[in-house]
Amino acid sequence: MEQSSQTPEHTDRFCVPNELGFYGPYGGMFVPETLMTALFEFEQVFKDAMADPVFVAEYRALLRHYVGRPTPLYHAQRLSEYCGGAQIYLKREDLLHTGAHKITNALGQVLIAKRMGKTRVIAETGAGQHGVATAAAAARFGLECVIYMGRVDMRRQALNVFRMNLFGAKVCPVDSGQKILKDAVNEAMRDWVTNVRDTHYVVGSALGTHPFPLVVREFQSIIGKELREQYKEQLGRLPDEMAACVGGGSNAMGFFYEFLDEPSVRMVGVEAGGHGIVEGQHAARFAGGRMGVFQGSLSYVLQNADGQINMTHSVSAGLDYASVGPEHAYYRDRGRIEYGYATDDEVIEALKILCEKEGILPALESTHAIAYALKRAPQMSKDQILCINVSGRGDKDVHTVMESLGIKPEDLVECE
Ligand SMILES: *Cc1c(COP(=O)(O)O)cnc(C)c1O
Repeated sequence: MEQSSQTPEHTDRFCVPNELGFYGPYGGMFVPETLMTALFEFEQVFKDAMADPVFVAEYRALLRHYVGRPTPLYHAQRLSEYCGGAQIYLKREDLLHTGAHKITNALGQVLIAKRMGKTRVIAETGAGQHGVATAAAAARFGLECVIYMGRVDMRRQALNVFRMNLFGAKVCPVDSGQKILKDAVNEAMRDWVTNVRDTHYVVGSALGTHPFPLVVREFQSIIGKELREQYKEQLGRLPDEMAACVGGGSNAMGFFYEFLDEPSVRMVGVEAGGHGIVEGQHAARFAGGRMGVFQGSLSYVLQNADGQINMTHSVSAGLDYASVGPEHAYYRDRGRIEYGYATDDEVIEALKILCEKEGILPALESTHAIAYALKRAPQMSKDQILCINVSGRGDKDVHTVMESLGIKPEDLVECE
């Protein structure tokens, strides 16, 4: 195991965010003043809870017995052979309860909500994964749960709507704007401003107003903490490179955070390239965005020359968002984390390859990082290690994949 270099100068990570939630120029609290008290209270209760051994023990026990942590670190031998370069390892967040990394954060925030004496939680959801995770955690603790979801997304993800209903959550359709995720966020904020006394808003990614980027990253950083032990035990060293997909940025931040001070580890975030980097056709904020304020914080935003938010597109709903968590913007500018993107076509191809080589069906979001690995591993040598975060499983995406491949259910051939 390499010695941790412990040089805060290298990343400044111990200096950010400041008390107003700024990571360098990014982040902040761009919200109505009625929410400021609730946000400061949330931050304080969160910090107290994380310093309380009783709270931490309860959370850890639930992560183990309810959520299914720690997740394995798996050597994808056939995929590595196929690529003919680096040894590819997969962090298996796809094996978690409700199907993705999101439950780790949703459960953490529900516990904080309970600690604050709140009786009701609300959340926004796009594909439905964060809604399902929040509904499950709320059911587990008997809290009332309301999920805001764009009408268009509800139609696309009807199965997840029903899963939320089964967990006792009410799903409110949002008919404003494009009727997708960003519109659901606006509606959830409206609810929160009105009901802030008894309600906590469980934000689903490391974005939005302070302290959410901090809180969500802290909960998700368990991914990297598990990896540090797994690297030591299974590899005897750190990997040469780590890559993860970036929507809001929570699975990537949780995966990278522990290793930011390890200069020998290269880090790459992979965004949604959609149909290519043409305005309105993708969600690669670092490839086509610029500084702006959107939904609570300052970060890279996809916007037109007048500052209007652009339409976005990705085959994966979970990456289809016009802004990105402020901490990513900060490390991107500092050059500590590099960012690339994968297109829809590359993602569908990569999904088929992982299925065929390893018998693992990844979420379309996570497959962006797999697509990157397929390109990157052949450029590396056989004694090098590339670790990929598989943030979720692809069961929810089977319909989309069939559609992308132009396959209809009646086309499925039977064995003679
Ligand atoms: C929601 C989701 C993402 C994107 O969110 P991040 O906050 O960027 O992690 C990625 N993968 C899966 C499986 C998801 O459900």
